[in-house]
Amino acid sequence: MQYVSTRGHAASQSFSEILLGGLAPDGGLYLPAEYPQVSAAELDAWRKLSYADLALEILKKFATDIPQADLKALTHKTYTAEVYCNARSREAAAQITPLWVLEGKNGAQLILQALSNGPTLAFKDMAMQLLGNLFEYTLARQDAELNIFGATSGDTGSAAEYAMRGKKGIRVFMLSPHRKMSAFQTAQMFSLQDPNIFNIAIEGVFDDCQDMVKAVSNDLEYKNRQKIGTVNSINWARVVAQVVYYFRGYLSATAGNEQKVSFAVPSGNFGNICAGHIARMMGLPIDKLVVATNENDVLDEFFRTGVYRVRKSAETYHTTSPSMDISKASNFERFVYDLLDRDADRVRALFRKVDTHGGFDLSGKPGSDGDEFRKVTQYGFVSGKSIHQDRLETIRSVQSKYGVTIDTHTADAVKVAREYLTPGVPMIVLETALPAKFNETIQEALGHDAPRPAGFENIEALPQRFEVMAPDVEQVKKFIASHTGL
Ligand SMILES: *Cc1c(COP(=O)(O)O)cnc(C)c1O
Repeated sequence: MQYVSTRGHAASQSFSEILLGGLAPDGGLYLPAEYPQVSAAELDAWRKLSYADLALEILKKFATDIPQADLKALTHKTYTAEVYCNARSREAAAQITPLWVLEGKNGAQLILQALSNGPTLAFKDMAMQLLGNLFEYTLARQDAELNIFGATSGDTGSAAEYAMRGKKGIRVFMLSPHRKMSAFQTAQMFSLQDPNIFNIAIEGVFDDCQDMVKAVSNDLEYKNRQKIGTVNSINWARVVAQVVYYFRGYLSATAGNEQKVSFAVPSGNFGNICAGHIARMMGLPIDKLVVATNENDVLDEFFRTGVYRVRKSAETYHTTSPSMDISKASNFERFVYDLLDRDADRVRALFRKVDTHGGFDLSGKPGSDGDEFRKVTQYGFVSGKSIHQDRLETIRSVQSKYGVTIDTHTADAVKVAREYLTPGVPMIVLETALPAKFNETIQEALGHDAPRPAGFENIEALPQRFEVMAPDVEQVKKFIASHTGL
């Protein structure tokens, strides 16, 4: 299996070659030269598999340059009941992404698929935990080391740290805005005592942190010498790891392959739902892929009108589903490539236009850049938007009707999912975080605290390990160099 760039001007590469990298050298994103297909017989056989074995079957099709025995060891080390222990029962933990049927009447089932039972209580663990093990394995084979450098306002940074803690050959240097994250998120990250994890609290806002990461990335000499890498949401292995739970959800919700299901996905950078698109392209019988956004509705706008318009910082809202507060959707280019029948020249022109004009228009109207919007429904995509008041109402209604507390991101997806229920087609809503992470809004909606999983009761009281620094790139560079010894 070879991987090609969506912009068509980069040499094709193997899975292991793109594993540790980010963007392709031409600025595009990597995708397989063609999607592997899954037969009905394979789907039948997969129904009985454990999550780890299902992950192996899917990974095998994409990571063809890693020996199968090694892949098996990696998926079995990653997808265990011990790692996904924050599920509501031991039995649910063993299923890794257990389903929770909310509504079964008239065939219009509403189902939650829990993706948030890993160490940081959010779905990013699903892929990041595998990535940690894949990175350690690959670095050991190459006798190499890697220093992951990034900026976080919450979920991504903690998922990366919990995935990389204690891993040989890997260090993590993570910037976060000093005193700007919630007490819970701060405690999650800063309580890690592993010597290969470095938390750097910057006296500034998240944008300052991100600017510093960009400045370091642009210093190629420093970046190469210090072996700096990233683990952002465009990483291909993260997308593949996410493909697995769409198969798992489908197989658990259906009895035979003639049945279809829909998925509703709380979306920001389009990483999660991009994996759903790939599962569908592989032949998984998915009816609709429901894109749910919050007030930052770049994606809802595209899927309603065909116009993709990125937002400026001033137009990007801080919401109560903060992990979806994006100004542009970094994985969206992967879908556009397929939508344009893999015409890399046009993809390159469109995303150049994003840089120069802030977007593009595929509506087919006079003066637009194309008319491919008419084909969007052939790919199953529909969309909707949910705002703060919708979140509060959805959290209340799911609590009172089904006795389940959902987090704010999942609430956005439930709100939009309800607009697309079809009799006879189960609607699986991906639950992307546990409510304990967003307790302030649960308080506002329900008047009481969200339940906290065992072991998290006193997390804010644990000793914390972090450095405070001014937003000064040179100081951060010196800090990194002094700890890598490179
Ligand atoms: C990251 C995140 C999302 C958005 O996922 P994308 O892959 O960026 O679309 C949704 N919910 C939670 C809780 C997240 O952490």
